[in-house]
Amino acid sequence: MSFSQLGLSDKVLSAVQAAGYTTPTPIQSEAIPHVLARRDVLGIAQTGTGKTAAFTLPMITMLENGRARARMPRTLILEPTRELAAQVQENFDKYGIGQKLNVALIIGGVSFDEQDAKLTRGVDVLIATPGRLLDHFERGRLLLTGVELLVIDEADRMLDMGFIPDIERICKLVPFTRQTLFFTATMPPEIQRITEQFLHNPVKVEVSKPATAAITITQKLVRTGREAFEKRETLRRLIKSQDPFKNAIIFCNRKREVGELHRSLVKHGFNAVCLHGDMEQSARTAALDKFRQGEAKLLVASDVAARGLDIPDVSHVFNFDVPHHADDYVHRIGRTGRAGKSGVAISIVAPSDTKSLAAIEKLIGQSIVWDGDLPAPASDGEERREPRRRKPQASRNRNEPRERSQAKPAPETKPAPVARLSDVRRKSEPKPAPEQDADTSHLPAFLFRPTRIKA
Ligand code: AMP
Repeated sequence: MSFSQLGLSDKVLSAVQAAGYTTPTPIQSEAIPHVLARRDVLGIAQTGTGKTAAFTLPMITMLENGRARARMPRTLILEPTRELAAQVQENFDKYGIGQKLNVALIIGGVSFDEQDAKLTRGVDVLIATPGRLLDHFERGRLLLTGVELLVIDEADRMLDMGFIPDIERICKLVPFTRQTLFFTATMPPEIQRITEQFLHNPVKVEVSKPATAAITITQKLVRTGREAFEKRETLRRLIKSQDPFKNAIIFCNRKREVGELHRSLVKHGFNAVCLHGDMEQSARTAALDKFRQGEAKLLVASDVAARGLDIPDVSHVFNFDVPHHADDYVHRIGRTGRAGKSGVAISIVAPSDTKSLAAIEKLIGQSIVWDGDLPAPASDGEERREPRRRKPQASRNRNEPRERSQAKPAPETKPAPVARLSDVRRKSEPKPAPEQDADTSHLPAFLFRPTRIKA
């Protein structure tokens, strides 16, 4: 199947060619003809599958006819984070080249007035985070009655961030007759309910992450002590010992840790920037730009800020903290090994991480190897510390996403396994690591090496 068979306009086909894409990805070839036929689409796909172009390309084709009116956007795209919204805008710049498309970005953390001026001029495509969009609507600066097409992207992420009530409200503000394109990586019951309520006879398109991207990631575990300074020391040693090494995203579980680790790395002479939800938008954009352009080699980030970011060519991902939610692990390591390039994902594992690690290995259906076949740190008897519960917030700034809820519903669709085959141990095999207190000195060392399945 080629792009020319999908029904896209000549201008869009030239832009696709200029971008260097020759073959549509599965979600593109399956979804684009239905979008152009004005059907509602339920796309079950993660970032990295080419889903952004699956909706931007047909949208640009459809928007070639007609004009925007002041304050009445013709199409609306909802994104959970400002960075994802900006990324979608870049797609319109790239594929809408040579077209007179008015695209506006309505996100929190930047001036209302500039956004307002853009809305007044009339926009073909409005890309927004839900909170800021509703703020403009409530000020009477925006009419949603002209929306012909609504895209809800990363819906399961919206659920995690507490945006579903806002999404439901927005769905009721746009015309009943609009076309809806709905994308989610997983289908928890709450998302299922929303799709039943707001999609009309949708075509369901389901794709898994491309296997080529998945098998290019080498995953490893490295043991560390329980104290923060020990973890930071381990991380510095790891960064210095990677060869080849280009750059890395380092994930922490909490925003506070992101700041602390960033300061420590800079103090030790590393070229690092950081990204978390409490930063000013201008600082977030500047940090990302520095990292994208290679000026900074390390990006220390939280999950909320970094989910779904498309940064090509990231050679390493480090989990400074093992994530509490197993599906976050899959998203984190998916920041490397993109577009067929190889990548390395290393998790720093403290004794208290054993339960989280077991949940990750269960989700991906594989055991991850210990670097240098070092044994797993035996649990030090200390129960895994539960992630700190946030105090209930009396009033939330709508423009800032809520932290991920602790009681996240289990995803129904499991992400594809992501380890190299050669890294896989049979699940039924005993763990190679001997218990710390067991006397194993009389046993030969080879008994503790993991057996591997041939690739
Ligand atoms: P997305 O899933 O939208 O985040 O896209 C992931 C990456 O795939 C982006 O860097 C896109 O530029 C790239 N991409 C999208 N469509 C294609 C295609 N047909 N061929 C190759 N790369 C693509």
